[in-house]
Amino acid sequence: MSRSDPPFLSYGRQHITDEDVAAVAEVLRSDFLTQGPAVPQFEGALKALTGAPHAYAMANATAALHLSCLALGLGPGDLTWTSPNSFVASANCALYCGADVDFVDIDPVSFNMSAEALEAKLEAAEGAGRLPKVVIPVHFAGQPCDMGKIGALAQRYGFRVIEDASHAVGAMLGNMPIGACADSDIAVFSFHPVKIVTTGEGGAALTRDPAVAERLELLRSHGVTRREALMSGPSEGDWYYEQVALGFNYRMTDIQAALGTSQLTRLDTYLRRRHALAALYDARLAGLPLTIPTRLPGRYSAFHLYVVQLDDPALRRPVFDALREARIGANVHYIPIHLQPFYRALGFAPGDFPNAEAYYARAITLPLHPQMSDGDVDRVVECLTGALA
Ligand SMILES: *Cc1c(COP(=O)(O)O)cnc(C)c1O
Repeated sequence: MSRSDPPFLSYGRQHITDEDVAAVAEVLRSDFLTQGPAVPQFEGALKALTGAPHAYAMANATAALHLSCLALGLGPGDLTWTSPNSFVASANCALYCGADVDFVDIDPVSFNMSAEALEAKLEAAEGAGRLPKVVIPVHFAGQPCDMGKIGALAQRYGFRVIEDASHAVGAMLGNMPIGACADSDIAVFSFHPVKIVTTGEGGAALTRDPAVAERLELLRSHGVTRREALMSGPSEGDWYYEQVALGFNYRMTDIQAALGTSQLTRLDTYLRRRHALAALYDARLAGLPLTIPTRLPGRYSAFHLYVVQLDDPALRRPVFDALREARIGANVHYIPIHLQPFYRALGFAPGDFPNAEAYYARAITLPLHPQMSDGDVDRVVECLTGALA
């Protein structure tokens, strides 16, 4: 790297203000670094954002997905379906519970799980007597899935729904915020630094169902309770607790939660900037041999990712390399989960989910995060234009 090299432009990154630092410092000087007031405060902010009556902050979204599967009773012999176009955690969570995983191919326009493919697969599975217990749609790049249709199928076929909303904090489906769980049992957010708002590591599970909420709360903290109503008999005193389930320590710290609450105050600003940058990309990329992201009507994306599809898959590698050479942090989201060696060893193979595979072959994620300048977009587009010429 020479002095004149431009700074590396990452595909996503956190934005931390002095207010964030002050909020974290305040917790560090307080009595509680964990299990204090900052976690319930953050959970209150998540409930206010989404309208979900229950929200549980967790160590990360992967932990929240794991507990969500357990809270819905997923276990050995059960089946879970998710999207192949996601991070591996969307599928791993079911394997943690001893359940089996299968995938539903994506829609070639939204790159989300296709509700039509889901319906067809459910029909076939009913015939074969092997319906899923839990389906996990993923709001890819922040654009909501067709939850109305998925919810209706859940009613008809009797499965439960966990929204992997890791990309979709602040997204809307019609007038309904993602996380409201209008058509699902649980929604899961991630607060990893590349996501919409951050807590360092962090996640949350939101639900409307009080029984599910009780399980999530219990399993987050060792399966231990101090609530007499959940105990086998009367409490023996103020010191007394009972372990009534096999839980985990998946708690978020107060340090992290304070950061999250502070970050959420800027959610609207972040989303507006993401949309403005996406619109700038749209305009600048017009005429290039690629397809820009489709915005479906009635859906407000959180725009976690800006993904373009190159017309010619043979150019994906050279274009990617050229961007990286220019210190532009292009990325690829996602390698289809079923093509990972671990999943191939379970029996999956190339050709199983052709839409996800065709999408992957042509996909490039361009940098998009709220601190980027309009000039950064120009720099990316200039490099991309040159590489495609
Ligand atoms: C980031 C992500 C996760 C995992 O989130 P962590 O908070 O890092 O555990 C799960 N699913 C999707 C779709 C993600 O993008």
